Amino acid sequence: MVEPIADGEVAHNYVAGEWREAGGGESQAVTNPATGEEIASVSFSSADDEDEAVALANEAFETWSSTAVEERIQPLFRFKQLLEEHQESLAEVLVTEHGKTKAEAMGEIRRGIENVEVACGIPTMMQAGHLPHAAPNIDETAVRQPLGTVVAVTPFNFPAMIPLWFLPYAVATGNTFVLKPSERDPFTANRIAALVDEAGFPDGVVNVVHGGPDTVNRLITHDGIEAVSFVGSTPIAQHVYETAAGAGKRVQAQGGAKNHVVVSANSDLQFAAEQTCSSAFANAGQRCLANPVAVVEDEVYDEFAELLVAEAESMEIGPGLEEGTDMGPLVSGPHRDSVLEYVETGVEEGGELLLDGRDQEVPEAGYHLGPTVFGDVDPDATIAREEIFGPVLALIRAEDFDDALSLVNRSQFGNAASLFTSDGGEARRFRLEIDAGNVGVNVGTAAAMAFFHFGGDKDSFFGDLHAQGDDAVRFYTDETVYIERWPDN
Ligand code: NAD
Repeated sequence: MVEPIADGEVAHNYVAGEWREAGGGESQAVTNPATGEEIASVSFSSADDEDEAVALANEAFETWSSTAVEERIQPLFRFKQLLEEHQESLAEVLVTEHGKTKAEAMGEIRRGIENVEVACGIPTMMQAGHLPHAAPNIDETAVRQPLGTVVAVTPFNFPAMIPLWFLPYAVATGNTFVLKPSERDPFTANRIAALVDEAGFPDGVVNVVHGGPDTVNRLITHDGIEAVSFVGSTPIAQHVYETAAGAGKRVQAQGGAKNHVVVSANSDLQFAAEQTCSSAFANAGQRCLANPVAVVEDEVYDEFAELLVAEAESMEIGPGLEEGTDMGPLVSGPHRDSVLEYVETGVEEGGELLLDGRDQEVPEAGYHLGPTVFGDVDPDATIAREEIFGPVLALIRAEDFDDALSLVNRSQFGNAASLFTSDGGEARRFRLEIDAGNVGVNVGTAAAMAFFHFGGDKDSFFGDLHAQGDDAVRFYTDETVYIERWPDN
């Protein structure tokens, strides 16, 4: 059922329970980042393909939205089971087109499954409220109703987990769903769609439409679409937010990040170094929750830098499917070039290269790059401010804890931040004063479980209701209040 990507396979759309060839005329190669070889391709949709998918999803909404909620969650239970049964083969497809390690792929699918599990609780989560005697002889009842057909546009870096931040909640609440996955790794979405098909969702409830920016721009303004969930880089998130909101859609748009970790003078430095290393370099740094900036108190800076570099140096770089690999390749050649440009800029702007990823032994084929650590980086340097989305970590010296807090809050982004400390007072101040959506204490990567919402602040998020948990339920439903008066008799 979860087949490997066949040589020369073309990723087709999945619409109303059928695989359909996209007719946009354009296609894009899908590459194995571990080898650099083009292995398959994805065909882009035409406006007619999108119209048809949305029309069929709209049609399915008529029945699905009034299907008993208990019945709506049955295919979700089966879907969870299928994802678990096929987790390993799905992970292999994901690694083949994305590059991350198999352990990372297994982990991200597990995170996706968690969202399916939470959405199975929709019969309880979707309830709103009822208040008898809200006024004399008046009872009031709030109900949550599905919106219609909703679309999710997702990025390349978590091709399984991120679609699953949206799909389970959207359909459990009674909406029908169109996914536009990243064109860089489209097969993971298609293999997930094959499991959706097997799980027995009625035709048209879940659909996958492939394409690039043109497809996105048509879908997010489409008359048949009620709400837009987006995850990607900040400029595109802002564009999607403004365009879709301008067309009257409900929108949640998650953008890029430049997260900081603070290493306080009283932290367990070895633990902090291990966690920071894993946070910065897992998924080759291509994570919106990576911490590519470490702000370290002066007193422990030298010792921490030494521990961190030792950790980073010990990482095994190689193909994601090879046993023992700690870090896989970057997703593409152009993306690796862009990371290398940042490394050069870091040197030009005076950062001290404590570990140069360009010098490390990596496989020749594919888009591998070793981890890079810059020391004594100026907080205004490009590599301290801009999202690189690669294995590059900048260490910044902070005079003291106050200085560290203000260095973190200077960032234009606010997706996440973490503190390593053994001082409860510092932890409390960090929680209260840091301007980020996900705040960790003694946690390298501050990733909320699916029953909590997930989303950032500042330029990392546009909208108000986030992905996952309760926020997802509220995002995908409209609340209506019934006010009833029945005189006493
Ligand atoms: P991207 O912005 O290039 O692409 C994301 C999606 O937008 C894709 O489906 C793509 O087809 C579409 N798109 C690209 N250009 C477009 C345009 N001009 N108009 C309309 N649609 C367009 O992002 P990416 O490179 O795939 O993913 C990496 C980015 O995603 C990073 O910035 C990362 O921080 C961010 N990200 C954020 C979160 C979060 O939760 N905040 C999670 C994961 C990734």
